[in-house]
Amino acid sequence: MKLPSLEAPSGQNWSCHGCSNCCRGGLLITLDGADRQRIVDQKWTPAEGVDPDSMIVPHGRGFRLGHQADGACVFLTAEGRCRIHARFGEPAKPLACRLYPLTFHPAGPRIAVGVRFDCPSAVQNRGAALSAQLEPLRHLATSALQGMPASVPAPPVFSGRPIEWQEFHRVLRRLDALIAGTDAPLAHRLVRGLHALAALESVPLDALNGRDADLAIEATFRQALTAAAASTLDNANSSLMSRILLRQQVLELARRTTVRNLEQPQRYRWFLLKAAFQFLTGTGRTPDLGEGFGSVPFRTVNRVADSRTGEFDALLTRYLRVKLQTVSCCGVGFHGLSLQNGFRALVLQYAVIRWLARWHSAAAGRTQPETVDLEAAVRRADHNWGHGRNPMAVLRLLVQRGDLGRLALDKRMRS
Ligand code: SF4
Repeated sequence: MKLPSLEAPSGQNWSCHGCSNCCRGGLLITLDGADRQRIVDQKWTPAEGVDPDSMIVPHGRGFRLGHQADGACVFLTAEGRCRIHARFGEPAKPLACRLYPLTFHPAGPRIAVGVRFDCPSAVQNRGAALSAQLEPLRHLATSALQGMPASVPAPPVFSGRPIEWQEFHRVLRRLDALIAGTDAPLAHRLVRGLHALAALESVPLDALNGRDADLAIEATFRQALTAAAASTLDNANSSLMSRILLRQQVLELARRTTVRNLEQPQRYRWFLLKAAFQFLTGTGRTPDLGEGFGSVPFRTVNRVADSRTGEFDALLTRYLRVKLQTVSCCGVGFHGLSLQNGFRALVLQYAVIRWLARWHSAAAGRTQPETVDLEAAVRRADHNWGHGRNPMAVLRLLVQRGDLGRLALDKRMRS
């Protein structure tokens, strides 16, 4: 197979700093047939600290790596090193381990390389620029996309209106430039993006083609942005219903499926049912979802200020732009959504992250979120991005009620 050419989002760095977070916490490493055979052939013994009878366990219709009693992967040493890597080198590890936290999505003539923000190095933008690491990643990209058709159609910009990659990228570029702007707070830029896409929806598809397409997109965006700037963006209050929908989405993204949860399915189901009720009413206490998202009264979360400093905006802008530029918010990268719906999902994600930052802050006894709270919120919300339930049902309700932009803008965001 011809190796693909890759492109990376601007301004995003990442290198592995060996924290081994991804090997702890009871997360699931699923194995394909080749992974399984390779690990069996490595002939691990108890003398090396690995029980060959429990190193691979059934999972659904396939298999996954086993875990130690504390939830760490069976191959992780007490010093936080991977035994497979140490003995056989990086290529001998399961594909999922080699890929994490990188993502590869078809983007027309190229493959977009992204990074998952549940990795601490990614959220802190530590390491080398992703764009400087593309050459060694080409083989990995080929493995990641194995089984995918050679050419994947572009996600539509609007549902039900197929479009070519070239036109898709035109709109994506303009939207990305809008989000990258520094002329207004991020919440305003997001709401302007919703307005601009809504205006573009009424433009005939033909106008997005050909020589004057960029001019047509620019003119539509400018018109919509002028109208949005004239509206009172600062006085938006979200409705009770939209805050309930938001809390449901917070729970959806904050929960983690760990080995321990899978081992006690009945108990976990009850826990989730109770948590859903707690988040529905927004009264009493939040459930304890671990790692800083402990059980606190909802009213304590409400008391935490909704901090929107330049630093917060910078991190969230980088996060949302990586999702946009790497086509990880639509098409095969995200529930098959159109770009417009994928962008709406990002606006909802922005509101979810702010809620989670306040929860993390409240659980630590703070009344003002700090960077550590925002980073924890981004990591938690991104962990399930694309793996959880399709958010379209929630988005449809929010859009119908005109509530999505208000959720992004609402500064009080009480439960
Ligand atoms: S196999 Fe190695 S890299 Fe993969 S989860 Fe286990 S310890 Fe970590």
